[in-house]
Amino acid sequence: MSLRRSFLKLLGLSCFFFISIPYKFLNSASKKIINPKLSKAQKDIMFNQGTEKPFTSDLLKEDREGFYHCANCEAKLFSSTAKFDSGTGWPSFSEALPGAFKTKIDYSFGMRRVEYHCANCGVHHGHVFLDGPTTTGKRFCNNGLCLIFIPEN
Ligand SMILES: [Zn+2]
Repeated sequence: MSLRRSFLKLLGLSCFFFISIPYKFLNSASKKIINPKLSKAQKDIMFNQGTEKPFTSDLLKEDREGFYHCANCEAKLFSSTAKFDSGTGWPSFSEALPGAFKTKIDYSFGMRRVEYHCANCGVHHGHVFLDGPTTTGKRFCNNGLCLIFIPEN
């Protein structure tokens, strides 16, 4: 093989490499299991837009300072300072950390709701409503099973 030819081959390979990198980034928003320890109940919520039974989450009682992370990819989603007791039976937050979620309109069950999902890994977390009691006016109604709480030391 001539030097020119192997140079062209190398160029082709590196082009492929550089093209495939942004493609990977674009695809990172599509849902995939990152945490292999997810339970069946967690997967049902995250990948099939299920909802946990109200008043079942241990996080309802959580009142320490810290951050709530995605149970699939561990992205930081909420600060404990945004958590409040909505009385609905699901962990509720007045605001998410900037860029934590992406939203879409969900018309299931004959309702028009705003669904939100992890901006990093794409899994479903809950719905956001505009009846929040704080200055943000928002109420992020999150499935506790989708969250991991990490206390601040
Ligand atoms: Zn995630």
